[in-house]
This record gives sequence, structure tokens and C-alpha cells, in this order.
Amino acid sequence: SEEALIRSEKLSLIGQLAAGIAHDIRNPLTSLKGFVHLLKAKNADYVDVMMEELEHINYVVNEFMTLAKPHLNYYIESKIQELVQSVVGFLQPHAHLYNVQIEIDMDQEIPTIYCNPDQIKQVFINVIKNAVESMANGGLIQISFRNRLKQWLVICVEDQGVGISEDRLSKLGEPFYTSKDNGTGLGLMVCKHIIEGHGGRLSIKSILNHGTTVEIELPLGRK
Ligand code: ADP
Ligand code: MG
Repeated sequence: SEEALIRSEKLSLIGQLAAGIAHDIRNPLTSLKGFVHLLKAKNADYVDVMMEELEHINYVVNEFMTLAKPHLNYYIESKIQELVQSVVGFLQPHAHLYNVQIEIDMDQEIPTIYCNPDQIKQVFINVIKNAVESMANGGLIQISFRNRLKQWLVICVEDQGVGISEDRLSKLGEPFYTSKDNGTGLGLMVCKHIIEGHGGRLSIKSILNHGTTVEIELPLGRK
């Protein structure tokens, strides 16, 4: 469709821009981080804030780098349940802070898929982090897996958070669209880009004040 075309054009433009910008930002960023560390002994409070800001810039640059390097893609046979488990382990402190519990359905054995595990991990980090952040009063995140028509692996991340109204739903995945004070609005765009690069699909269903389900479909079998 024309809309998809415009989107892919925007993405490739962003990719090209990102390649240039990311390289120019990375080197001074690394050197700045070193100096901030040196400063820390003298004025710790002040420096902690600076460090946080630097980490934020670092995060944005890293997200952009993912877009800028779509061709450095390698696929290996991966166990998606284990991959998700390791991401959940990594995000446990963040979830704890929000009083959020994360459940992974391990009941059935899921076939392996061919994917770039680093990229797929990045997707789950972004999606689960969003789910956690949507539940200011705590709650449960359920992650489930199923096999569709023996051709697709479907992974659902379901939260009980604030949800997203219908008019905002269409804006998700647009660059810089965020409702958070310190959000980047890049997470979902990167997720979509990665999943589509794997020949899959990412879709979001949501009910305001009830919760959100992110459904990720990935092709089974070798690419
Ligand atoms: P960021 O998290 O930095 O804001 P994202 O691209 O990850 O950027 O998400 C964009 C926006 O989509 C978020 O700011 C939020 O408004 C909305 N969103 C994403 N996931 C969820 C979710 N699980 N529940 C409610 N809103 C969500
Ligand atoms: Mg996010």
C-alpha cells in the first residue's frame, strides 16, 4: 500500500541519517562518559544527573544504530522461550520497582526459529519494558507462545496497564511518538523494523484502562 511505501521510505531515510549522526555522536559521548567518571569524586549528586542524561543519549544512539545497520543481519537457530526468559530476568529489577509480576507460559514445547537473537532480544526488552511502564500500580504481565498453522510462531505479551485509546493506537511506531516524560518514542518503531526484517508482523490491541496485548508473529522454518 502507499502508506507502507511512505513508511519504508521514511525508515530508510532515517537509517541513512542515523548512520551519519550516530557515528558523529558516539565518539564524543564515550569520551564525555570517561570525564564524567573522573569528575564523580568531587560532586557526586550533580554528576549522577549528568550520567543519567548521557545514558539516555547513549540509548537513543543505540536504537538508531539498529535502524542504520539492517544489513548486518545474521540468523541462527534459536529457542525463543529461553531468549524471552533471559530478557525477563534482565528486566526483573525494573518490574520489581513497578510492583509488576511477569509470567512466562512454559507449558508447551515451541519449535526453534531462525532469527538474529540480539535483535529479537531488543524487541522483547522494548515490548516488556513498555508493558511494565504501563502499570503504575503494579499488575501482571503474561507472555504466551503458540503455533499458528505450523507456519508461524505467535508470541503475545499481555499487560493490565493503562491501555491506549483508539486514536493513539495508529500513532504507535511513528518515530518520536511518546507519552512519557523521558521516553524516546523509538522503541516500537525499532521493534516493528526488526520483526518485519524477520518476515514477521507486530500488532497491538488495546483497551483503554484495561490493558494492552502486543502480538509478535515470526515465521517458523529456515529463511
Ligand atoms: P517510549 O517507551 O520511549 O515512549 P515506545 O515507542 O516504546 O517509546 O512507545 C511509544 C508509546 O506507545 C509510549 O509512550 C506509550 O504511550 C505507548 N505504549 C507502548 N506500549 C504500551 C503499553 N504496553 N501500554 C500502554 N501504552 C503503551
Ligand atoms: Mg518504550
